[in-house]
Amino acid sequence: FKEKLEELKGAKSVTKDGVEVELVANIGTPKDVEGVIRNDGEGIGLYRTEFLYMDRDKLPTEDEQFEAYKEVVEKLEGKPVVIRTLDIGGDKELPYLDLPEEMNPFLGYRAIRLCLDKTDIFKTQLRALLRASAYGNLKIMFPMISSIAEVRQAKKILEEVKEELRSENVEFDDNIEVGMMIEIPAAAVMSDLFAKEVDFFSIGTNDLIQYTTAVDRMNQKISYLYSQFHPALLRLVKQVIDNAHKEGIWVGMCGEAAGDPKLIPVLLGMGLDEFSMSPISILRARWIIRNTSKEEMEEMVNKVLNMATAEEVEKFIDENISVL
Ligand code: PEP
Ligand code: MG
Repeated sequence: FKEKLEELKGAKSVTKDGVEVELVANIGTPKDVEGVIRNDGEGIGLYRTEFLYMDRDKLPTEDEQFEAYKEVVEKLEGKPVVIRTLDIGGDKELPYLDLPEEMNPFLGYRAIRLCLDKTDIFKTQLRALLRASAYGNLKIMFPMISSIAEVRQAKKILEEVKEELRSENVEFDDNIEVGMMIEIPAAAVMSDLFAKEVDFFSIGTNDLIQYTTAVDRMNQKISYLYSQFHPALLRLVKQVIDNAHKEGIWVGMCGEAAGDPKLIPVLLGMGLDEFSMSPISILRARWIIRNTSKEEMEEMVNKVLNMATAEEVEKFIDENISVL
């Protein structure tokens, strides 16, 4: 089977009935790009920039960030690279910011909330991202958006930074795509309206499962309740995809579920446009995609969306859908 997967390098990520999707990778540092290229990733669907800020004792400078982002987009040679702005907080801490301890860090002062408050940190990152956009196909993505006001504010600050760069005659991609993560139920439920505000969505199932089911993604004691097959999650995902397509924007997924061999056919049936996963999962996903018919899956999706439990969904997939 491993040899079969090797043969898929250079092949398209296309279903049996001819629907092409984008198969891209999640990375944490520029070093990870090597694995993306080795596994024939078609781009980067999520560059988690937190690691640039972690394991050090002060904020990274604009130039340090610019160099990292530029290295990634250059190595991808024009393939799409979605870079997420700082998603600190929750399980990822920055001791040097000296933030007060919180009762519920996952529901607290983090990610875009922190960036919209500490705009100097946010603007520095946006400057670095825009400057790097002159060197490849870079897209900016905002994490943890829960309200329309936040995405508008983030876009407003981005426009201010663009204006700053223009006045300094610094080059950047003026048509840069701006997207947001759908990882908070409020954003999924309101995705019809969010779709009018951005160029793309990427569904973060790791957090979307956690917040939809009120199950801490780190807590082993209740991990039996945390499932990518939960019908509530699947309904939300379908709703988000439909709402995105109604507005003519594309929608990807960068949570762990996007690389789940059992779920990939279901997501194809729902119409997901982009699958972003750990580089080592890419060729296996391509094999699944090439052995799945989207049209057949569309019927299966209707059945799955009417099921009552995660166990029922998984069993149905095992018996009727799984191609592995
Ligand atoms: C997610 O929440 O699904 C996601 C991709 O982001 P992270 O795992 O970094 O929170
Ligand atoms: Mg997340």
